[in-house]
Amino acid sequence: MQEIVNNVAAIRARMAEAAREAGRDPAEITLCAASKMNDAQRVRAAVEAGVDCCGENRVQELVEKLPQGAYGQKPVHFIGHLQTNKVNKVVGHVDLIQSVDRLELLAAIEKQAAKLGLVQKILFEVNIGAEASKSGFTPAGAMDAASHMAEYPHCHLEGLMAIPPISEEPGGNSKYFAQMHQLLVDIRAKKYDNVSMACLSMGMTDDFPDAIRAGSTMIRVGTAIFGARHYGTNT
Ligand SMILES: *Cc1c(COP(=O)(O)O)cnc(C)c1O
Repeated sequence: MQEIVNNVAAIRARMAEAAREAGRDPAEITLCAASKMNDAQRVRAAVEAGVDCCGENRVQELVEKLPQGAYGQKPVHFIGHLQTNKVNKVVGHVDLIQSVDRLELLAAIEKQAAKLGLVQKILFEVNIGAEASKSGFTPAGAMDAASHMAEYPHCHLEGLMAIPPISEEPGGNSKYFAQMHQLLVDIRAKKYDNVSMACLSMGMTDDFPDAIRAGSTMIRVGTAIFGARHYGTNT
């Protein structure tokens, strides 16, 4: 667990360095622990090491770790693909749903939030690399959906999230990060009702300094905090 403490400290130092290089205040950028495949005890260690929030990909893991107190007092975000038939396990249970990737899901979240009488904070996920393997709005689709947010009064659009293509060379994703930042600025400038656009969630283990230099306000880091994930085992 000491390793997790050291890893978080090292990431914080790199975040601060990237922020300074971009002339930004490091306090503007939050660190979200992408905690998939890590058990409650390890997630709790990251929380105690000072991450700002935790992000879960899978409904099943969220449902298991919440009652185990994995997240302490920190906000929990949902960051994975969400099926409409599982929104009831997520809406109202997390502070932010980062992965709203289609209108059908937005409508399902609205319906559940209305039923519970609350406002669910959300981000739109944008498929910025136009990859067939990934879900997400196109940039034009995100703009259009943002323009209709007044029709979803039980949701509040706080910004955008993206997972760019796996880059072949260092810095390879900088163009996608720049496009995402521009899209955030463009949507914000429209001043649509029920849209604030303060959050730009982008940057992971391999590319978060580039994302910060491009204007990210939240990085989602898994491997650099917890170590490599071992797919095929259950730990
Ligand atoms: C796993 C995951 C991350 C973190 O990935 P790493 O490369 O391990 O830092 C970030 N965002 C999402 C949506 C993820 O699923």
